[in-house]
Amino acid sequence: MTAPLLEVANLAKHYPMRRGVLLARTVGNVRAVDGVSFQIFRGETLALVGESGCGKSTTARLVLRLIEPTAGSVRFEDADITALRGAAMRRLRRRMQIVFQDPFASLNPRMTVAEILEEPLIVHGIGDRVARRARVEELLGLVGLAPYHAGRYPHEFSGGQRQRIGIARALAVEPALVVCDEPVSALDVSIQAQVVNLLKDLQARLGLSYLFIAHDLAVVKHVADRVAVMYLGRIVEIGPKDAVFANPWHPYTRVLLSAIPRPDPHHKLQRQIAGGDVPSPANIPSGCRFHTRCAFVIDRCRTEDPALHPIETDHLSACHRAEELPAVAAMEAPRVATPAAARRLALYADRRAAAEQAAG
Ligand code: ADP
Ligand code: MG
Repeated sequence: MTAPLLEVANLAKHYPMRRGVLLARTVGNVRAVDGVSFQIFRGETLALVGESGCGKSTTARLVLRLIEPTAGSVRFEDADITALRGAAMRRLRRRMQIVFQDPFASLNPRMTVAEILEEPLIVHGIGDRVARRARVEELLGLVGLAPYHAGRYPHEFSGGQRQRIGIARALAVEPALVVCDEPVSALDVSIQAQVVNLLKDLQARLGLSYLFIAHDLAVVKHVADRVAVMYLGRIVEIGPKDAVFANPWHPYTRVLLSAIPRPDPHHKLQRQIAGGDVPSPANIPSGCRFHTRCAFVIDRCRTEDPALHPIETDHLSACHRAEELPAVAAMEAPRVATPAAARRLALYADRRAAAEQAAG
């Protein structure tokens, strides 16, 4: 098997909370990212999904090494990037780029589009003036804008067009990995699909890898190869997209899935609401960090922190009850006793029967 393009292991970012005179006393930690591991392969899109405040952007900043980790490592193209300095660090900056959520805030309003797209080329010493101008025109074409747009300013564009400029800027230096931090969250729903399709198209043409961040699963359905679900600084489920959507092995993933609006009015899956508020990352619950909001909590969950473990090949869950979840979901929570849940229950029963048979 080929080595992953990006490999993140046990990554953590804790922010000390200070109090007192001159903030000299540390009174605890905000555990923004609290032990995250994942890999991204070449040409692949890994979606990172979770509610606001769960640590997605902090993970992105750690991957790009815009901030230093409290613990853990980031390997990219077979180098430990936490150790890079000087010229090696500048080379890395070319290979990894970011597209931000807000194309309104991330483009300098006083620069023309040509200047915005040329800037990263100048910073990295790519091409002379003539070559750079040609590259700007090429980039505009790549994201579906016209050559005459080069002389315009960001405010002259719509939100979707501005995000296209943000994407062109990220691609200017020919990165291998693009971190897209909620790239369509600020856009009208009607525009979101266009930008998502553009990103997919560019991936196919340029062989890009994406870390695609979103706060709901609906957005990633059409872009992800694999999905990682994040809750309070941890990944609680990760697996191939189809598997995560069809057979979620973590109660939190089920909650996120039930929040996706369905076009079919007869679909009976009721929206599941996780009870209570998201706890603060400064005060993470004991045991399973999701237990305070989980519909399937048992005593063990309050004391024992579940490890992220494989349920099926490549499909991992951090839930003590992952294996029995389809069954308990059908029994204990009648509001999710849908045809789909019934099918999963049957599948689970079949598997158990097969396992028992195999065991003799
Ligand atoms: P997301 O992108 O998933 O919404 P973030 O990664 O931005 O989440 O933030 C995760 C948590 O870390 C939040 O509770 C946030 O308030 C906290 N946080 C982020 N940056 C800092 C910082 N520089 N100092 C203290 N706390 C921070
Ligand atoms: Mg964020």
